[in-house]
Amino acid sequence: MKLTDLTISQAKNLLDKKEISAVELTKEYIDNMEKFRFLNTYVTETPEIAIEQAKIADDNIAKDKARALEGIPMAIKDLFCTKGVRTTASSKMLENFVPQYESTVSQKLLDAGITMLGKTSMDEFAMGSTNLTSYFGEVKNPYKRNGEDLVPGGSSGGSASAVASGMAMAATGSDTGGSIRQPASFCGVVGIKPTYGRASRYGIVAFASSLDVPGVIARSVRDNALLLNVISGKDEMDPTTAPREVPDFTKVLGESIKGLKVGIPLEYKSDKLNPEVQKLWEQRSEDLQSLGAEIVDISLPLTKFSLPVYYIIAPAEASSNLARYDGVKYGYRTDKPFSSLDEMYELTRTEGFGAEVKKRLIIGSTILTEEFYEKSYLKALKTRRLICNDFDEAFKKVDVILTPSTTGPAFSKNDKLSPMDIYLNDIYTVGASLAGLPAMSIPVGYDKNNLPLGLQLIGKRFDEEMVFRFAHHIEDISKFDNTPSKVMGE
Ligand code: GLN
Repeated sequence: MKLTDLTISQAKNLLDKKEISAVELTKEYIDNMEKFRFLNTYVTETPEIAIEQAKIADDNIAKDKARALEGIPMAIKDLFCTKGVRTTASSKMLENFVPQYESTVSQKLLDAGITMLGKTSMDEFAMGSTNLTSYFGEVKNPYKRNGEDLVPGGSSGGSASAVASGMAMAATGSDTGGSIRQPASFCGVVGIKPTYGRASRYGIVAFASSLDVPGVIARSVRDNALLLNVISGKDEMDPTTAPREVPDFTKVLGESIKGLKVGIPLEYKSDKLNPEVQKLWEQRSEDLQSLGAEIVDISLPLTKFSLPVYYIIAPAEASSNLARYDGVKYGYRTDKPFSSLDEMYELTRTEGFGAEVKKRLIIGSTILTEEFYEKSYLKALKTRRLICNDFDEAFKKVDVILTPSTTGPAFSKNDKLSPMDIYLNDIYTVGASLAGLPAMSIPVGYDKNNLPLGLQLIGKRFDEEMVFRFAHHIEDISKFDNTPSKVMGE
């Protein structure tokens, strides 16, 4: 077996028994990073840092002082500030930005002993579902459709592609409206966005602060649990983190789901849904039933407003958050001559931001003008509250909700998709984002072209344990083989 085919829990076991070393494990990943560079997943590779950390890891293991993720090779999405390592958010605006500080999530992972392989590409400022908007070029999905290149999803597409291809054992992601779950689904890996407030946003380049949630992508449900154990918890630096105890999420794996209730939202059965996804959704519901769970039809009546509400709130918050890129404090500044401060701002922002970001900033700042604030922004906030209420009502009847992660498999940039079609990609994921609920995507099968398809589990606020409990069974039934060497046809 290739070392890069190991999951975290398998690797931990071999490392602990000293059957493999962290240095040899890390080196194998660095080899893969060179071999599969054509997927363009990394913006910045940090092999020297990884090797140094691996040596320390081996030292700790030798002294029987292994930490929770000692020697586990990981990638960090390029939205997380890493001290002394360039952090770009895949934007020209931050092309040469080297942070003076570390994000809480990456710090916790480093403190747990990971080796950092590099920073993964993403949609610019996390806006998108394709990775086509990265300033550093598009990222490719390791899966192809009859030889044709496909998008890895987004915005954490670099992270998902790196994990699926064996260029990282796991990666961080961030999810504002689906950016962990959709790429995880497109690349056949597991990704969780925990409850809003479960993990700290400190040091993550902000997109929409009331929606942004850090999370993780890895190949198995257990690996997701091991990672979430490390990154969760109250953080003084982020007042929106909750002072809640963090349970050991691995403890519930394997626990029975007998007598528990699974909600199937009627409104998610849309004609936009690929029939193969629909079939797998039904199949897995039946499978859960045969394990003793009860399937309950539920209604989330305001589902049709989720996307419009998301695409009002997210750009509005983005236009405020991204106002800081003014060519003065940090980041890009125009090289062209200017004769006023306003002209300098204008040139800097025109040259520094890509088209999708500009579009959202224009939409967002228009929404926040006196004319539209009440009509659109306030209305969206009120509707968001009602969408939360819908979920709260549903969760009085059920323990967990099962839905598709996406309407279909990964697509090609050559498929004739309008911007609206691309926004529609988020239809199943934005609800949990607006309501701040934990949600996970698990690969459950393939379409006719052998492309991965995922299902989503949504839990009650701070009940990630229930999500993990069900996810473990779905994974077990699905037997989805995401071994990287197989995916890469080696
Ligand atoms: N695809 C969504 C968007 O474009 C979600 C992005 C995200 O979750 N960061 O906004």
